[in-house]
Amino acid sequence: MTTIESAADATPAAVPPDLRAHLSAPRTRSAVAVQQAILGAAREYLAGEGFTELLAPVIGPVTDPGARGSKQVDIDYYGHRYKLMTSAILYKQASLLSFGKIFCVAPNVRLEPLETANTDRHLAEFHQLDVEIAGASRDEATEVAQGVVRHAVRRVLDTAADHLDVLGRDRDALATWLDDPFGRITHREAVRRLHASDHPQDPGAEIDWAGERLLSESEKCPFFITDYPKGSRGFYDRESATDPGSLRNFDLIAPEGYGELCSGSEREYDYRRMIARMRETGENPAKYGWYLDLVRGGIPASAGFGIGVQRLTRYVAGLDAVWQASMFPKLPGVVSA
Ligand code: AMP
Ligand code: MG
Repeated sequence: MTTIESAADATPAAVPPDLRAHLSAPRTRSAVAVQQAILGAAREYLAGEGFTELLAPVIGPVTDPGARGSKQVDIDYYGHRYKLMTSAILYKQASLLSFGKIFCVAPNVRLEPLETANTDRHLAEFHQLDVEIAGASRDEATEVAQGVVRHAVRRVLDTAADHLDVLGRDRDALATWLDDPFGRITHREAVRRLHASDHPQDPGAEIDWAGERLLSESEKCPFFITDYPKGSRGFYDRESATDPGSLRNFDLIAPEGYGELCSGSEREYDYRRMIARMRETGENPAKYGWYLDLVRGGIPASAGFGIGVQRLTRYVAGLDAVWQASMFPKLPGVVSA
């Protein structure tokens, strides 16, 4: 694999080795075995809770505009400009017209900025375990996210402990929190803690990478950050009726410095409010034809989330970088298989 432009500045540890060496490394086999245990357990847990697994679309006329400065990929669809999916959010909400509880393991392509090649947390192609629940509140969604992660980690400890040992993962660091409820702080509290440790976090914005790492390093158990400010997220995260300017959303943050595993929210579903939120976030409603047609006719209120599969694998397996959780990693700016 070769690097281009400023991704060449990536530290050697951040760059995947030769593909043959990567595919045949014990570390890759063990990381994928851990991932298999995670996915099997997640599917089992969600099926047991009455969820239907769907196959997510890969292309469409429009996709999730959110996503922290990453670029979308256009393709030529019979003369129309379509996008590769950056997330399944629009389809998740629409699917609730058929089923009340859905999930999918969906591929996402995001051309992340070159500087993210060094974060150990970004791939240009990754997967989300995407969940959406009709009629659910934010707290119900966090319960399901906690249930999925706990069930998956328990399964890894029960069935793939030998692989954790190959990877040198401290198993006690996972076992220690399995019976505890995940912690929960608001975005305001997270900002206060960062300011107290002299980190200059903008209170009106997404927690930056360095701040996320600081918060993550200070914990031993996964924890939720809730109520992000409106400017930080897409139009589909519902604004609080009682605390205007804050969103009914959450992230799940892994401990030990691994950072964000999952983002979720109660969703906007009211047509007029959605149009207003689109305009506020700089989105042109005219691009969202099929989706807004459905929203205008009525879609269920919902809450849901997406867990980054490679991020969760990295954390559970204790990998140095997220690319080690992928057989064919696409690091931002790195030309690869
Ligand atoms: P987002 O919609 O940006 O919050 O993405 C949902 C989840 O997908 C995040 O919580 C991460 O776990 C994962 N994720 C997002 N972007 C990336 C990326 N570039 N590489 C790997 N995982 C990602
Ligand atoms: Mg996120």
